[in-house]
Amino acid sequence: MQILKFGGTSVGDADRIRQLASIVAAARASDSRLVVVVSAMAGVTNQLLDAVNAAVGGDIAAIADAHAKLRRRHREALARLVAPDAEAPPLMAELDALLDRFARIGEGIALVGELPPRARDFIAGLGERLSARLVSAALRGAGIPSAPFDADRLIITDDTFGAAVPDMAATALATREALLPALDAGQTPVVTGFIGATGEGVPTTLGRGGSDYSAGILGAALEADAVVIWTDADGFMTADPRLVPTAQVLAEISYAEAGELAYYGAKVLHPKTLLPLIPKGIPLYVKNSFRPESPGTRVSATTGEWRADIKSVTSIKGLALLTVAGRGMLGVPGIAAKTFAAVAAAGVNVLLISQSSSENNLCLMVEAADAEKTRAALIKALTMEFHHACVERVDALQPVAIVAVVGAGMRGRPGIAARIFSAVATARVNVIAIAQGSSEINISFVVAEPEAGAAVTAIHERFELGAAAG
Ligand code: ASP
Ligand code: MG
Repeated sequence: MQILKFGGTSVGDADRIRQLASIVAAARASDSRLVVVVSAMAGVTNQLLDAVNAAVGGDIAAIADAHAKLRRRHREALARLVAPDAEAPPLMAELDALLDRFARIGEGIALVGELPPRARDFIAGLGERLSARLVSAALRGAGIPSAPFDADRLIITDDTFGAAVPDMAATALATREALLPALDAGQTPVVTGFIGATGEGVPTTLGRGGSDYSAGILGAALEADAVVIWTDADGFMTADPRLVPTAQVLAEISYAEAGELAYYGAKVLHPKTLLPLIPKGIPLYVKNSFRPESPGTRVSATTGEWRADIKSVTSIKGLALLTVAGRGMLGVPGIAAKTFAAVAAAGVNVLLISQSSSENNLCLMVEAADAEKTRAALIKALTMEFHHACVERVDALQPVAIVAVVGAGMRGRPGIAARIFSAVATARVNVIAIAQGSSEINISFVVAEPEAGAAVTAIHERFELGAAAG
């Protein structure tokens, strides 16, 4: 059994959905047990959320406007995918009913001037409910027996709206109960990505881009043989091809490498997708739905054959480096604890941490948008330390970028860091801070944002990642 997940651009319009149907038909030739997971049509989740965000500020017209646009787009796709026979009218009515719920809730939000998290999650997940129905109809049109399934009956989560955490045991039960009979009957179910529901049935979402995660969760719940993420990229690459034109697709990488790369800027896969798959050893493939013939990347427990010492070099931009500094920090316990507690209390995510052993400063990277709020929180939390002059300054430096070098081949191998930093030095890029996790499969460092591209290119070249294999 396989899970095939298609992202927003792979269901973006009727032509893309037809392409999806042909990919599914081809996959069925070798494995008849398939579960399709879909994202909303490209841009729809943003449209829904933009509209309710505008509504909460009193802009009620934004709802009617989004409603009309979404209705037109889904109707147009449906009209092109399904013959105007008996099937089209009830389907159209079903899409309309979902869109009318959006309009009614949206108007309510505009009237009350408040957007409760659970209403926000319900609205955010509507695009998947619409696309799953379209895709399932398209499969039936292509002669593949299929029915749509809303994942709020399959993926059971806690009530952390916006980033819900699945209960894997409850999810496995619900999923198997709903999907196994459909599979046994020869159907290809089409499941909404991104959404789940609490045990009480209140709809939740798994976080932006979470449809990949849905595929991982369903893969584990159904003990699938493989999960295939059909997207608009050829797979994991040695670098971002927009930045480094010679970048190559990586045929095989390990779960750990993919985890690092999913996190560091290569937006190929939602970082949580692999979590449910790792304990079961289920392989994941990333493939390009625009070029189904290209081999893509296989992600599994093994790192695979590779000719260089590193696999990939990526960068994340739009960050800020916060530094807590003071000559009096040396040997004073608890400053790090207070620092990170304050950052956590401010709800800010930390991307990288570094402290030199002179203990004169402690730096951490956050998104640039969080810089000021983090700095304010730190100044407040460290009042006593300022008073005693242990801490003298909290600085925020931006815009900065993280450059991350990833590869299991670095582990236990001397000289890799030297080669990385000599390449960076040759490109005349200044390194502001460095971090290496003890997993030794990632070396990350901080540079001024405008220099990130030069650093990535220099490392890519030094390790000959772009050169043809052989
Ligand atoms: N449609 C959702 C989003 O845009 C989930 C996904 O596409 O994976 O975040
Ligand atoms: Mg995605």
